[in-house]
Amino acid sequence: MSENAVNVLFVAGVERSGTTILHNTLSQVDGLLGAGEIQQVFRHGYVQDRECGCGLAFRQCEVWSRVIQRAGIGREAAKDAATYAGLFANRYIPSSRLRGAAYSENRFSSLDDRLTRLYRALRDVADGGTIVDSSKQLLYAMTLERLPALDVRVLHLTRDPRGVQFSILGRKNMGHRHYQRHNAIRVAFVWNTINSSIERWGGSLGDRYMRLTYEDFVSSPGPVLKTVAEFAGIPDSELPLVDANTIRMSPVHIVTGSHHRTETGTVSLRLDDKWRREMPSWWACAIKGMCLPLMRRYGYA
Ligand SMILES: [Zn+2]
Repeated sequence: MSENAVNVLFVAGVERSGTTILHNTLSQVDGLLGAGEIQQVFRHGYVQDRECGCGLAFRQCEVWSRVIQRAGIGREAAKDAATYAGLFANRYIPSSRLRGAAYSENRFSSLDDRLTRLYRALRDVADGGTIVDSSKQLLYAMTLERLPALDVRVLHLTRDPRGVQFSILGRKNMGHRHYQRHNAIRVAFVWNTINSSIERWGGSLGDRYMRLTYEDFVSSPGPVLKTVAEFAGIPDSELPLVDANTIRMSPVHIVTGSHHRTETGTVSLRLDDKWRREMPSWWACAIKGMCLPLMRRYGYA
């Protein structure tokens, strides 16, 4: 990775693919600073002052208060940045051509400046270490990749679409507002479109792109973490493993992510494959039918 640039390890993928647990585990590796879904930091942190993974409010958090001070981004500027950063969600990919036009009009140049300041401040607080960003969103990753101050490596995390679907259903049944409009067809469409788009873009990044499955990660974290550390340019880092499947987890300073964000102590990584036992077989077959070519490619069928 580059000496002067801000080195960023970006975790890309579809939601409910295990990005938060991967991010939190990577955050325990020497030389990596996990900052969560940085795309949401302007909204959830600067504007809403949500609780950080360490238990303190964003502005009170020891790490983020130092970042805020160094970045020098005011509340109004952060509000503005939150609006623009929100436009890089995966759901806007079909209209990304329009976004390309918007770039040429320079409408997003102020966001570029604020992102550069934010990532530089994170790098300084991390003593020059690599920042792990679990924002997931492809358009946002593409935005970061073209910022001259950043050297971005993309770690593409995939999960069996039946597991993704089942996890989303669980959130939907819990009344999570964000998932109320999801259904099997929509999930299959998103899974196919986003994963193939990330992979296509990743092809243009050469050795700055790596694909990883959630299933491989939780089944054998040691070898996977070693490979990812090499990919991130820190091959000799000490890994946070207690035994083959147990991680030493310290608090992670993130303001957005799944419920895994607050787990600390020793955490066992276990494959969540409840869908195999609890999902009606006709449903699993329907998803497989809709996702088969890419499932074969990723080793899920
Ligand atoms: Zn914190």
